[in-house]
Amino acid sequence: MLDLTSPIWKTLGAAGNDADKWLRHLIEEDGSFRENVDILTEDLSHQLSWYSATAYVLPHLVALCPTLTLPDEIYLIAKTGPAIAAEAEWPLSPDSDACLEFQEGITGLRHEIRLLLANPETAVQLKSDPELCQEFSLSALSIMGSRSHAYGLYLLSAYCWESGHAACACGWNDEELPLSEHPVCLEPVSIARWDGRSLDSEPVWLSGLLSLTDDKELRPVLPYVYGTGVCPKCGRREPYWTWHNRFMKEY
Ligand SMILES: [Zn+2]
Repeated sequence: MLDLTSPIWKTLGAAGNDADKWLRHLIEEDGSFRENVDILTEDLSHQLSWYSATAYVLPHLVALCPTLTLPDEIYLIAKTGPAIAAEAEWPLSPDSDACLEFQEGITGLRHEIRLLLANPETAVQLKSDPELCQEFSLSALSIMGSRSHAYGLYLLSAYCWESGHAACACGWNDEELPLSEHPVCLEPVSIARWDGRSLDSEPVWLSGLLSLTDDKELRPVLPYVYGTGVCPKCGRREPYWTWHNRFMKEY
């Protein structure tokens, strides 16, 4: 964990280039907790870009977690997802200092999420706030699951998950595949009911978390984004995520 007095902070990027200032406010309880969280996490995820300060901020957030009330910890974790998911698009060099800090942060946040999920009060909090539940679920995906999938779902949030991007290697593509209309070229996967604890199957626990508030935006399209695409032009079958990633890379 990089000390807040280190001159290295001045070399680290964030949208406002002052992530260390807001992190200090957060740690020193200087100002509103939620406002400080909002500014810091927006600073680290503006326009869904990756910022180098993120890796060094995460271990400090992990250290903060045990000092927080349960609602504040849920709020903090819910807001960190976009900054973390962006690493999927701008991967860190393995064994770099930044990568080690990032891994330290992710490992700590995974532990905190496991503790939260084992506490029945977490479900009570999430049920009371559908927007927070959606943010927490996507953040949990960024931390516990595939950052690439989380990044894709953050991108598609601009369309309220009503449509997705798709491209086959044969050249067929669709910028706005209507996910919510269940297009015939997507075979949905069957997503089992979540037991409330297991993190073995990503679509199962993600859908389970979202089901706490009867989410009608993202949860209904999960069987399709985790499903199989059948190209309308050449008939080739591929996971939808392959279609999404190809579209983002080539179009
Ligand atoms: Zn094709």
